[in-house]
Amino acid sequence: MIIEPGLNQADTPLKVGTAGRRPTRAVAVQWGGRVVQVGGNAPVVVQSMTNTDTADAIATAIQVKDLAQAGSELVRITVNTPEAAREVPAIREQLDRMNVSVPLVGDFHYNGHKLLADFPECAQALSKYRINPGNMGGGKKRGDNFAQMIEVACRYEKPVRIGVNWGSLDHELMARMMDDNSRRAQPWDAQAVMRDALVVSAISNARRAEELGLPSNAIVLSCKVSHVQDLITVYQDLSARCDYPVHLGLTEAGMGSKGIVASTAALSVLLQQGIGDTIRISLTPEPGGDRRREVIVAQEILQSMGLRAFTPMVVACPGCGRTSSTVFQELADSIQSYLRDQMPVWKNRYPGVETMNVAVMGCVVNGPGESRHADIGISLPGTGEVPSAPVYVDGKRTVTLKGDTIAQEFQAIVEQYVERRYGAGDTNNNKVGG
Ligand code: SF4
Repeated sequence: MIIEPGLNQADTPLKVGTAGRRPTRAVAVQWGGRVVQVGGNAPVVVQSMTNTDTADAIATAIQVKDLAQAGSELVRITVNTPEAAREVPAIREQLDRMNVSVPLVGDFHYNGHKLLADFPECAQALSKYRINPGNMGGGKKRGDNFAQMIEVACRYEKPVRIGVNWGSLDHELMARMMDDNSRRAQPWDAQAVMRDALVVSAISNARRAEELGLPSNAIVLSCKVSHVQDLITVYQDLSARCDYPVHLGLTEAGMGSKGIVASTAALSVLLQQGIGDTIRISLTPEPGGDRRREVIVAQEILQSMGLRAFTPMVVACPGCGRTSSTVFQELADSIQSYLRDQMPVWKNRYPGVETMNVAVMGCVVNGPGESRHADIGISLPGTGEVPSAPVYVDGKRTVTLKGDTIAQEFQAIVEQYVERRYGAGDTNNNKVGG
């Protein structure tokens, strides 16, 4: 068949959107009346992890609060020593006093079985336990320690995440699988065996947990690696072999743009295929950096893909030689920060505001067109253009701003728009005209 250039041969509209979500069991992670469902077609959940010393209850509670207010729906804390385990109930109480109901996940390695047994109030205050089967000792000890943790999870009715990581893969399992591999007619390369071992470790430990009495709807799995292509392959395989919900994350993603780009590349491919029930972006913070960044990046990935909406999005052009001032860059930045800062209050007061689109454009080439497509947009003057900035509301040109107060006036217009469109007075959420 000869393909006619430019013609849609199938004569059907192009399909847009992600694949249907992979069906999984639903796992409830709860604290008090707050229930966060992972899997079972619930929206993809955003997680984060503190980097404070858990033994410092006040510092940890403050960081958990910050992460929760930024939008983290589960927060994981390190529980690595008796001092840390002892403080977990105090952290929980402090959060409850501050009306922060986000469920806490305890991250255990090596001594989790002992800490959970020795500190029952810690076991109770946590809403979920992360267990790394590769960090539980060797031989019979490994099985006993794992069983002890699962027994505590059953007793307190807590779900667990069986979190396998390639940096701490069960070396006995890996050795066994390498031996088996050597007997293949055509042995796989070591990386392929490692990928297989990650999946086998996660699923076999989940089955063992079920044999020990943990309900199948109390298990989440993860298999984290630090290379994008490995991560995609491992999760595709894991998802095809079981129906437990999965937690996605590129481990040791790195700092700054490298960590963001690598995480986005890996997670977007999987999310597009319907794989992933909860995500965390493991960014290495810059010294003194803001830990909430990992929450914002996770939200932006999900919102950019159209999977969830968290905060109004600002569309801004990149700028070019047609605009020599930084006015539009400053306006785009200040409006994005302003919108994000308002969300803790707006999300309750103005339901639906998180889906609003705002455009801030640098000149007349794409400015009016992009602004018309947004709910509210502004087209700033480029070099040599008349020094005025037309504002578009719901596709219609309304006012034209001029002078030094464009930013303040535009922000006021946005505020009025939000109040009129999403406020209680407009229960139908009807669009407002210009
Ligand atoms: S809208 Fe204007 S300033 Fe912005 S990138 Fe396009 S041409 Fe350049």
